[in-house]
Formats: sequence, structure tokens, C-alpha cells
Amino acid sequence: MASIEYESLRAKIRGALIQPADLEYESARKVYNGMIDKRPAAIVRCASVADVIEAVNFGRTNGLLLAIRGGGHNGGGLGTCDDGLVIDLSRMKGIRVDPNARTVRVEGGVTGGEMDHATHAFGLATPGGTVSSTGVAGLTLGGGIGHLTRPFGLAIDNLLEVDVVLADGRFVVANEKENADLFWAVRGGGGNFGVVTSFLFRLHPVTMITAGPTFWPIEQTPEVMKAYQDFILKAPEDIAGFLAFLTVPPVPLFPPELHMRKVCAVIWGSTATPERFEAQTKAMRSVGTPLLDHVGPMPYPVLQGLFDPLLPSGMQWYWRADFAKTFNAEAIAAHLEHAKRAPAGISQVHIYPINGAAHRPAPGDTAFSYRDANFAVVIVGVDPDPANRDTVTNWCKGYFDATHPFSAGGAYINFMMEEGQERVQASFRDNYTRLAQVKRRYDPTNLFRVNQNIRPAVA
Ligand SMILES: Cc1cc2nc3c(=O)[nH]c(=O)nc-3n(C[C@H](O)[C@H](O)[C@H](O)COP(=O)(O)OP(=O)(O)OC[C@H]3O[C@@H](n4cnc5c(N)ncnc54)[C@H](O)[C@@H]3O)c2cc1C
Repeated sequence: MASIEYESLRAKIRGALIQPADLEYESARKVYNGMIDKRPAAIVRCASVADVIEAVNFGRTNGLLLAIRGGGHNGGGLGTCDDGLVIDLSRMKGIRVDPNARTVRVEGGVTGGEMDHATHAFGLATPGGTVSSTGVAGLTLGGGIGHLTRPFGLAIDNLLEVDVVLADGRFVVANEKENADLFWAVRGGGGNFGVVTSFLFRLHPVTMITAGPTFWPIEQTPEVMKAYQDFILKAPEDIAGFLAFLTVPPVPLFPPELHMRKVCAVIWGSTATPERFEAQTKAMRSVGTPLLDHVGPMPYPVLQGLFDPLLPSGMQWYWRADFAKTFNAEAIAAHLEHAKRAPAGISQVHIYPINGAAHRPAPGDTAFSYRDANFAVVIVGVDPDPANRDTVTNWCKGYFDATHPFSAGGAYINFMMEEGQERVQASFRDNYTRLAQVKRRYDPTNLFRVNQNIRPAVA
């Protein structure tokens, strides 16, 4: 194979080109998930859209495998690759809030925390995830589920426009009117269609959130989970909270007697005032015998950053996911059995409600197909010690195998590892055929294939 003339790329960019001989390479090749250990041939830390165009053209003409990195959080490590070229947007941090139009424009390397900080100054927010270090780019392109999903929809439901560098190096804008098929596809179809260099979101008046956890003994799961689903399926949209199974971390935030205890929890995050929240949730929070119930007002960015100290970069993460409509008694029993067996530490399960405003678009309105599911389940085996990699992986797989039969079939692509084509298709259902056609139009050679891949339709 002819040697690749990386120097010619270096000469054309304003950002950095990092290769294995460079001191920075070891840190630059790392992604959030410590289980991922890939060695790209080069990483382009783009400074601007011009750099992105150069990198895409260089990758294409040299036949390189290309990976796109936003925040580097992807579970399956899809922000990097072996031997190829990583187009790293982490330096592209531009953010502009327009308080009159109630919009925010962010570049491809912005994290959720950075965006929330910028919009909070104006008393505004747009739906994102639940951990502030996650990249806005990857999170949004897969859908974007978080505390504001029930009142305002998924991140993609608030996306107004994207700037994209296509596989052939062209720069295009996509919105409802311009390149509408591309705009449809990037709202849930992941990084399949090009490098998105900027996102324009609609903002909502959000400053304070009523938030905090309620914990129950894990043995009370059957009663709590049934009550939770009955409650959240009927609750007003400003009332939100996700169900979780976790081990209480041994940190001062929690009473010492609960440290390392396995619990069934609801992590509340609601745009309702504390008084309204109390009135609406009192009965739910009084189910069984709660061990802790600590809910109060806090600024939205504080809620978004609450778990950050517990989740530093570099831990071992193994992911599995499903969508679910409801949980019957058998499904609840399977959850309880496997939640109880979680390895001591950080491994956990989150069950996010994706009803409310996220149900307003029809399954075909955006690429995100599961608008009829009520819950996105994510099971994560997590441990700081690489020696425990197999333990957390096996627990996660066992949990998934036991609960998957009760699921709606597919999964949220951002909560998956690399699980193969069948699983990707199951996650897009009827939208897959249209996605494959859009892929053929914008990326006919599948240049962007380090992702939950949609293969170009055959002509
Ligand atoms: C601790 C943690 C908490 C999380 N919490 C949530 C949550 O609450 N809600 C939720 O919805 N998800 C959540 N996620 C999942 C998250 O949405 C995915 O991991 C997502 O892929 C992260 O995006 P990123 O930009 O950080 O990832 P990266 O690893 O940088 O990128 C992942 C993939 O996204 C695509 N991509 C990234 N940037 C671009 C771009 N600019 N243009 C085109 N394609 C691009 C590429 O295909 C890339 O392979 C969480 C993940 C972690 C690790």
C-alpha cells in the first residue's frame, strides 16, 4: 500500500494533526470508555469547518477509514477507530445564544455542560442528556434523551438546522426546507451522513429544576416499578424522573447508612415548581418505605453536572439497551433478579421515560422511529478497574438477555455497543429503508461507517 502523505494534510489545516510518534498521541487517542483501546493512524483536531473539509477530502482520496469524534462519550467507542483518521471536533467550541429568537447555535465539539452554561445565563435551555460531559453532537444525532424530554421532546425535536460537511467535501445546510431529506435523517440516524459542524436548537424558558432522588430498598422493586410506570404514563409533562437501579455511592451527598446499598430509585428532574411537584408526586414518592427522599429546587446546569464527579473519564463501560412499552410482572421480576446481582460499585440501570412531548412526532417524522415506546432502558456495567472488565460485561449481558424478551424490539442507538446490522435495523424499523436511500444520496460509498451503520441502498 502506498504511504499516506500526512504532511500534505498538516500543511492545509489550522488545527493539530497528531500521529503515533507525537507526545500527545496517547492522550489524544483515548475516548471516555476505558474499555476502548483503538490506535488511529492520525487524529485531526479541527479548528474550523475548513479543517473538517480538508480532513474529509484527505480521508476520502487516500481511502482511509474515517471516525468522527464530538464529545468522545460513545459506549461502543465510535468516536475513534484502528488505523484510520479521526476527525476530532473537540476544539470547535463556538456557542451563540440568540435570546430574542430563543435559539442557540453550537459547534460540533461542544459538550452538554458547555451549552447549558451558555443558555442558562439567559434563563433558557434545550433538551440534552443527563451527564454534562457528553458531546452535544453524538447525543443529538442519535436522538437525545434527558430530563427535559417529557416537557420538550428529544434533543432532535428541538433541532432547527445543521451545517454538514458531506462525504464529497461539500458543505451544506439542512433544515425543514433545505436538504430536508438530510435533515430528516440526521434527527436520529447518527453520524452516517456527514460531519455536522454546527447545530441550531430551539430554547425554552428553564432556569430552576425541582430535582433529586427517592430511594427504596431494592426488594420493593415490584411495588415501586409498577407504581412508577402507572404514574409516569399519566403524569403531566412537566413532571419527570427516571427509574434507576444502583448502588448508593459512598459520598457525603448520601447518609452513611445507605452507602453501598442497592436501591431502586427515581431520579427526579422536573420543570414544575417545588409546590406543584410536591402535589403531583406525593403519592408516588410515598409508595412502600422510601429510604431517602431528597428533592428540591436547583439550577438546571447543577442538575446536569450532579453525577459528573462520580463518572470520570477512563472507566470500563459495557452497554446494552432496549426500548420498552410497559413492564408486566414477569419483566419486573427479571429486572429485580438481575439488578440485585449487579457487581458492587457503579454499574447501574436507567429507565428513561420517553413519552410526553417526545410522543408528538409520528415514527416516520424523524429517523428516530420508536415514538410509540414509553421507556428507553440502558444497562451499564461500569468499573474503574480494568481487572473487573469481564465481571461488569457478563453482568450486563446476562441482565439484557433476561429482560430483552419483554422489550419493544430495538434500542436507542446511543445506548448500544457495536452489536451488528440486525440490531441497527431493528432500532430504525420502517425508517431503515428511507435512511438507506438518504445514505446513498449523501454518502454512496459509505465513507462514514464508524457508527451504528446504515448501508447505502443498492441502486
Ligand atoms: C456517562 C454517559 C452518560 C450519557 N447519558 C446520556 C443521556 O442522558 N441521554 C442520551 O441520550 N445519551 C446519553 N449518553 C449516550 C450518548 O448520547 C452517546 O454516547 C453519544 O454517542 C455521545 O456523543 P459524543 O459526541 O460524546 O460521542 P463521540 O464518541 O464523540 O461520537 C459518537 C458517534 O457520534 C457521531 N458523531 C459525533 N459527533 C459527530 C459530528 N459532529 N458529526 C457527525 N457525527 C458525529 C459519530 O458517528 C460518532 O461515531 C451518555 C453517555 C455517557 C458515556
